[in-house]
Amino acid sequence: FLLFLFYLNEPIGQLLHAGSRLQIGLAAVRRLSEVDEMQAEPAGDPQPCAVGQDAARLEFSGVRFSYGPELPEVLRGVSVDVPASGLTAFVGPSGAGKSTLFALIERFYEPTAGRILLDGRDLAEWDLADLRAGIGYVEQDAPLLSGTLRDNLVYGRPWAGDEEIRDALAQTRLDTLVERLPDGLDTQVGHRGTFLSGGERQRVALARALIRRPRLLLLDEITSQLDAANEMAIRDVVTAAAKTMTVLVVAHRLSTVTSADRIVVLDNGIVRAAGTHDELVASDPLYAGFAATQLLTGERTA
Ligand code: ADP
Ligand code: MG
Repeated sequence: FLLFLFYLNEPIGQLLHAGSRLQIGLAAVRRLSEVDEMQAEPAGDPQPCAVGQDAARLEFSGVRFSYGPELPEVLRGVSVDVPASGLTAFVGPSGAGKSTLFALIERFYEPTAGRILLDGRDLAEWDLADLRAGIGYVEQDAPLLSGTLRDNLVYGRPWAGDEEIRDALAQTRLDTLVERLPDGLDTQVGHRGTFLSGGERQRVALARALIRRPRLLLLDEITSQLDAANEMAIRDVVTAAAKTMTVLVVAHRLSTVTSADRIVVLDNGIVRAAGTHDELVASDPLYAGFAATQLLTGERTA
């Protein structure tokens, strides 16, 4: 029982402490509720996931949302289908509503109108813990917990075996890092992972999400801190993951986006176009402009 209390309090305490030092924004609140959700699972006890094992299918139907009655609508009737498995990229200008859409999928907020269906069932009807157990979410500044690298990796799935861990490490190209670390997986990562670089923290967060084996993987601008080599590695991981799970990415790098099975262009709270890269370059000026700019950036850094 004491061990349980320890499990329950330690990471939340750390995050609260971290939150007091950093700006407490939406992300922090979301992180805390995710921690709550995870800690609610009895540690070490493999729970059959009521959500099922297959890749999730999503349907957005006329989804409208604003952060408050006085505030402008952020989503103004989003309708789009995301079939099971495969990679769907959401692109669009900053403030278009991409991260908000992800927050609605995780049910941090409810749409003010319209519906989001998961496997044909309204999100509101899902048991919240079941729903979130099936979702892996990695954001731009992925927070790590103090503790060992292993603690961080198995956080969402404490019963994960060494092979699962090794597999995720290899996929995210962290295996070479682990070899270099004095105590390998048992190396302390420092307060919120400060002994690691931003790119390493990002990859640990992705490895952690993969180890959880979600049915739906949400990746919000996770490559922004990565160098070209690591970005390519992550792109490979994401492509591989999309074979067994439904992967949604918010990305602004062209290389991630072009490999997507479908791209959804979000602009000012509406879906202005959807299709493959080639289709969109031909049909949507906003996307074509975006692609051109990213290409230039890519050439400069290559
Ligand atoms: P994107 O991820 O596409 O850049 P967001 O979904 O983060 O866009 O934000 C869409 C709009 O919602 C922006 O105008 C943003 O300022 C606003 N917004 C985001 N989060 C909140 C919040 N917690 N409270 C109020 N407004 C918010
Ligand atoms: Mg965003």
